[in-house]
Amino acid sequence: MATTIQAVRGMNDILPADSAAWQYLEGVLRDVMHAYGYSELRMPLLEKTELFRRSIGEVTDIVEKEMYTFEDRNGDSLTLRPEGTASCVRACLEHGLLHNQVQRLWYAGPMFRHERPQQGRYRQFHQLGVEAIGLSGPDIDAELILMTAYIWERLGLQNARLQLNSLGSTAARGRYRNALVEYLHERIDELDADSQRRLGGNPLRILDSKNPDMRDVIEAAPRLPDYLDDASREHFDGLCRYLDTAGIAYELNPCLVRGLDYYSHTVFEWVTDRLGAQGTICAGGRYDGLVEYLGGKPVPAIGFAIGMERLLALLEADTVELPQNRPHAYLVLNGAQAELYGMMFAEELRRAVPGLRIQTHCGGGSFKSQFKKADRSGAEYALVLGDDEIAQGTVTLKPLRSTAEQEVIERQQVAQRLGGLPETA
Ligand code: ATP
Ligand code: MG
Repeated sequence: MATTIQAVRGMNDILPADSAAWQYLEGVLRDVMHAYGYSELRMPLLEKTELFRRSIGEVTDIVEKEMYTFEDRNGDSLTLRPEGTASCVRACLEHGLLHNQVQRLWYAGPMFRHERPQQGRYRQFHQLGVEAIGLSGPDIDAELILMTAYIWERLGLQNARLQLNSLGSTAARGRYRNALVEYLHERIDELDADSQRRLGGNPLRILDSKNPDMRDVIEAAPRLPDYLDDASREHFDGLCRYLDTAGIAYELNPCLVRGLDYYSHTVFEWVTDRLGAQGTICAGGRYDGLVEYLGGKPVPAIGFAIGMERLLALLEADTVELPQNRPHAYLVLNGAQAELYGMMFAEELRRAVPGLRIQTHCGGGSFKSQFKKADRSGAEYALVLGDDEIAQGTVTLKPLRSTAEQEVIERQQVAQRLGGLPETA
């Protein structure tokens, strides 16, 4: 026998038992996007490597060690997208969507990063990304955060905490960066290898270090908020005012950063303690410099991304009930006439009751084995059609999830009888 072939490590199948939860999550996310007037942008999974090198930056984990990069048959270097913002801005520039227009966009789908697979960290994972391009005020920052809070509310999540920081204007963060580098040089012997490496290219990321040995150095470091100029502080205070008015609690975290130069002002994350080390379910920030960096005119922008696997894991940890997409009814067929006409009866029912889920038994077998399958399907009812019922124009309706008695009903009454089921889960 040939050996079986397994999936690539860190790349998961979403099995039938789990796909209903995914569809439900995607449905809620889509509803919320529409509720705020955001439009979907669908982008390719592959881009030229140069796009990510330039937009994400050479000195980031993603570009240094996480990208799936290969040469295609023409010798062009291509990369499976590790995130969506770069492609989104690329598409907007390519199609002229940023000429004197604001774009409020979203996308959802797989991203690829070559990381060590573990709980909450995969090599193919899924993000919902939202980008608002062309607006510079704290009002749009607030809108994005309100939107994330509404997503949690719609999903029934109660364990996410909002962390907030401001990187300030380019000038402010430049001054901060100098002060930080100077400080870190003084304590260079105490830095771990990762941090020493980052000191040259991406020193702000050192603040984000998860190494406990680095805690003392980081705690005594100069603090970003002390370097904000008046305009930056006003932007940040403006955002906080919106959040206070909306009753959204937040924690100020001066170590929350995005390393790259085109990030400015607002950064935020939603975190939870319930998922172990992989506790960030949503990360966002303002990237006013990126559009220009990718060859456009300067256009302010802000966005966030939600890790969908982590969101689903959190829903599970919180034991939020998710819909299952089980059939409403399973059609049991007994006898040659019933098998022939039963198939058509199911066709009629599906057309008469949009949204009704009927599984028709196929493959014959005894009453008993068919009922077993009906039960295992999770259906609310078994509909039984035997040759007797065919002759009499009736159907037997047997509840499978309650002790209620079975009933014999006229075939014409079945659609009406089951009409309410699509509204239930
Ligand atoms: P981390 O510090 O956990 O590596 P990150 O800064 O690389 O996160 P972002 O690039 O900001 O993450 O991505 C946004 C969100 O996408 C994260 O907050 C997380 O929820 C999710 N995410 C990122 N990488 C992975 C992954 N490898 N597997 C599953 N989810 C991920
Ligand atoms: Mg990462």
